[in-house]
Amino acid sequence: MQFDIFTLFPDIIDSYKGESIIRRAIDAGVLRVHSHNIRDWAHDKHSTVDNVPYGGGAGMVMKVEPIYRAICDCSLFEIKTTERGLVHSDKQRIILLSAKGERFTQQKAQELAQYEHIMLICGRYEGVDERVTTYIADEEISIGEYVLTGGEIPALVLLDAVARLHKGVLGNVESLKEESFTTGHPKEYPHYTRPAVFSPKPGVEWKTPDILLSGNHQEIQKWRQQDSR
Ligand code: SAM
Repeated sequence: MQFDIFTLFPDIIDSYKGESIIRRAIDAGVLRVHSHNIRDWAHDKHSTVDNVPYGGGAGMVMKVEPIYRAICDCSLFEIKTTERGLVHSDKQRIILLSAKGERFTQQKAQELAQYEHIMLICGRYEGVDERVTTYIADEEISIGEYVLTGGEIPALVLLDAVARLHKGVLGNVESLKEESFTTGHPKEYPHYTRPAVFSPKPGVEWKTPDILLSGNHQEIQKWRQQDSR
């Protein structure tokens, strides 16, 4: 599975992909994550990636041309440009991160995990030229009802949630089976680990529920199901 992330701040992406599970998956060859600076596709003298909005208004708008060129250049599959927008393989998904997009959920992550190639476009400033939404992106995704300064954190949220569903990314696939949203219940059950009793100061004891120390797996299972309702 391959992710290509288009941004004005590729270091944000590179820093995250250089750590922990995502890094291990990249090193093991089960995942490819590439960050691209959209500015590299701005071909004028000043490498302009934004401009003032037509019709006036606050802030700057990211231009459509560099984004279009970047997407076409980095596609793993053939892309056709038509009057109605880009036409490309159904193994591929082009996503614009946007506060007004469809809300990202675990179900959406599972859906996206089926694609071979995901291209993520990160906006900045007031946002991107609407032609990116209309003609280039397959969909717009929001990670929640708040406005961030850029699409990089949303892109990383999506990358993380989708990549860990991909075969070979997590060491222990069992952990996927029982976690929140996969099991139908919204909250995973509470976890405890050693010590069984934690005493942060004399006379205070924060205990692990006895049932988890009982060794009775059937009762533990029942407790977990009840607790997470
Ligand atoms: N003018 C836009 C609005 O009112 O929705 C906000 C633009 S925001 C400052 C700049 C970029 O951050 C957006 O183009 C988008 O890529 C990203 N962004 C901000 N909030 C987001 C969210 N909740 N989910 C996904 N992307 C977001």
